[in-house]
Amino acid sequence: MSEVRVRIAPSPTGDPHVGTAYIALFNIAFARKHGGRFLVRIDDTDQTRSRPEYEKGILDSLNWLGLTWDEGPGMDNDWGPFRQSERTEHYREAAKRLLESGHAYRCFCSSEDLERIRIERAQMKLGRGYDGRCRKIDPEESGRRAEAGEAHVVRLAVPQEGDCRLQDEIRGEIVTPFKEVDDQILMKSDGFPTYHLANVVDDHRMRITHVIRGREWISSVPKHLLLYQALEWEPPCFYHMPLLLNPDGTKLSKRKNPTSIRYYQQAGYLPEALLNFLGMMGYSRPGGEEKFSLEELISDFEPKRLHSSDAVFDIQKLRWLNGRYLREDLTPEDLYQRLTNWRMNESLWKPMAELMLTRMETLGDFVPSVAFTLADDFESPAEDFVPKKRTPEETVQFLQTILWAFEEDDAWDKENVQKTIERVTELWNWKIREATAPLFVAIMGKKVGPPLYDSIAILGKDLSRARILKGIVQLGDISKKKLRKLEKRWKSGTLAPPASS
Ligand code: GLU
Repeated sequence: MSEVRVRIAPSPTGDPHVGTAYIALFNIAFARKHGGRFLVRIDDTDQTRSRPEYEKGILDSLNWLGLTWDEGPGMDNDWGPFRQSERTEHYREAAKRLLESGHAYRCFCSSEDLERIRIERAQMKLGRGYDGRCRKIDPEESGRRAEAGEAHVVRLAVPQEGDCRLQDEIRGEIVTPFKEVDDQILMKSDGFPTYHLANVVDDHRMRITHVIRGREWISSVPKHLLLYQALEWEPPCFYHMPLLLNPDGTKLSKRKNPTSIRYYQQAGYLPEALLNFLGMMGYSRPGGEEKFSLEELISDFEPKRLHSSDAVFDIQKLRWLNGRYLREDLTPEDLYQRLTNWRMNESLWKPMAELMLTRMETLGDFVPSVAFTLADDFESPAEDFVPKKRTPEETVQFLQTILWAFEEDDAWDKENVQKTIERVTELWNWKIREATAPLFVAIMGKKVGPPLYDSIAILGKDLSRARILKGIVQLGDISKKKLRKLEKRWKSGTLAPPASS
């Protein structure tokens, strides 16, 4: 067998997700077991959502967990660069080959055309969303129109008949009728590739031998295999890992659980415990041990033992495991070091001292007032959240929109936090007192405390968001349907009920 080369291809479009670490962990185990190499490739094909700070967040979080890579961004070698935005010429070249061989075609349909076609076909319950009408355009004419500057995308010409047979190393054979597979867009009208084309081109060019990723990508494989075939390249072996789930069985989402690795770091979890926990989600060791290090996992790693069924990301279990690491592996001196490296140091004490200076009578007043910055596991009575004259339901909706607004916030400082809260409060037509009441309780676990905006800024975005989410759940949460409606109102900026109601 040629040298084993595996990769993760995270998209830098948000906070560093625990799912990225989970997949990285198994790629590393696989690479080490086979004496191969593990690489990180940044999938920034979505130019509008990708940001350098998200890339940094992902790489920093992987490092924090001890998940290191052999090849990746900034490390140039024969297979790089490792950011897809820096590799466009490879995708253009592949698209050109696919057009020439007739495996792809230009599509000139406007977005209005496409929407109409999609709705018509959905009504008729036809499998594909696009009817492939531009396939019929003569290639020469299509070339001329493109040359003349007419806007177009490049689509994969998926066969109308037959089945795709994927041999998944975890799940066995997966058969998908091609008639259910859309003529995937490969190149967008801006000349950038979509994930599918970039992924296949890079997996080939970077000599990836095994693709180990979440099972949510299974539905993409028919398109990928067609591309390998059309480009006359050897496809890699596929391992589609179980999904991480919310406790209610839905796919793990930040709506229901903190998903950012940074949250776990800041909430006081040990990296080795989180890593171990992620390992348990997809694998059982031959001896059945639940507590294991990365080295131990690698020492007897057996890909055949990878799970096929999805796993619940149960935070209570993670807490229990984290407790075992603290009890079993640390000396008091180690614990002290961990605490100071974590948040119990001047990075927290200094801004809090500044905030508390005019608000204390004795030094002893300090710790009780700032305890909320370190303690995570407090619960407050649900009624404490609800401002007078408001219902729990209104409060939940209010907090949810604060969460959305916070997500959009790039700069996290007092001024921005304040502006955001004031903006949302105004949209709801609430008084500022009504807005700060539930936030105090969510953030500090009590109705009064140090100034709110500073406190939220010091606590940080990840912890603040997680606490507000916890408050929402405690208040009875919000149904999916209501959430969708609320999101529409949020996006259109029409939150406040009409004046008469
Ligand atoms: N960019 C994709 C992701 O965000 C990569 C999927 C793959 O591994 O092919 O997970």
